[in-house]
Formats: sequence, C-alpha cells, structure tokens
Amino acid sequence: MQTNDLPPTPTPAMKITGVKINYLHICHTKLWLFSHNITLEHEHDNVSIGKMLHEDRYSKNKKDITIDNTISIDFVKRRNGVLELHEIKKTKTMEDAHLHQMYYYLYYLKQRGVDAQGIMNYPLLNQTKEVLLTQDDEINIENDMHRIEEIVTGRMPHPKRIKICPKCAYLEFCFCGGGGD
Ligand code: SF4
Repeated sequence: MQTNDLPPTPTPAMKITGVKINYLHICHTKLWLFSHNITLEHEHDNVSIGKMLHEDRYSKNKKDITIDNTISIDFVKRRNGVLELHEIKKTKTMEDAHLHQMYYYLYYLKQRGVDAQGIMNYPLLNQTKEVLLTQDDEINIENDMHRIEEIVTGRMPHPKRIKICPKCAYLEFCFCGGGGD
C-alpha cells in the first residue's frame, strides 16, 4: 500500500479515551456529562460480578493495564509473538460499544507503532471473539474521534430514555429534574 493511501492521522484537540468512544456508541448525553467531569458513577452489583469473574478466571495474566490514562485493558498476554488485548464482559448487551472501544485501543497502539489484536471474553457465555483492526475500522475510529469533539464542545444533548437508563448513574440527573423525555 502506498503511504498516500493512508488516511490522515487526526489531531484531536481533546483527549479521546476508550470510555468516550464507548459512550459515543451508547448515549451522547452520557458522553457529554462524563467529558465535562460530571461523574456520578458508583459501584453497582454489575461491577462486583465483573470483578469476581475477572479475579476467578483470569488470575494468571497481567491485569488492569492503563496506558497514557487513555486506554484501559482488562489484561494482556502474548501468544505466538502477537500481543493480545483482552476485555472481559458479562453479556453482549453493549457489544457494539465494547467492540468500538477495542478498535480504538488497537488503533491507538498502532499509531504508536504497536501492532496488537483484541480478544473479547464472555465467560458466562463461554465465548470469545477475536477483534482485528481493518482500514475501514481505522476510518470509522477517526470519524468517531471527530464526532466526540463535536458533541463535547456543543451544548449538552437532550437526554432521551433508552434501555440502559435504569442502570445508568446519571439517571436521576437526566430525568428526576424533568430534563429528559
Ligand atoms: S440516564 Fe439515560 S439518557 Fe441519561 S446519560 Fe444515562 S443513558 Fe443517557
């Protein structure tokens, strides 16, 4: 491939973290609130179960890797010379958002000269899914990064009730003041 076939590397003015990519694909209000440091997240039972899964089944690997305070990986390992980034999820409910987050991790590392592949682990479903970064994924990630900038620098998106609202830490903020639909 010719180097001028490559898309231009974006230079976002703001720090784009994996969590922001995830929230972009879940709820724009959540993305905006989180990006403005309005953090109401607290420990749900979900988190405890996640931690338990994490500790029981994957105790041998190097865990909770944070890079540049930007990406946060459940655990990494090297298999046949390939660096694997592993994420552990209880369900596939948010699969799309989780996959985009993993694409971003792979993209972020690739931009810094590190090739890796992702593995999504669903221990309760006894499934794993391999995630490889394609050139289309890279273009999508760059679009996501620009979209995040647009949303975060604009006015707070009006909250709209979606399936995950009851489990979201911002529920009261969004709806108990009469601000949402
Ligand atoms: S409560 Fe619902 S609308 Fe509000 S931030 Fe959470 S997911 Fe978005």
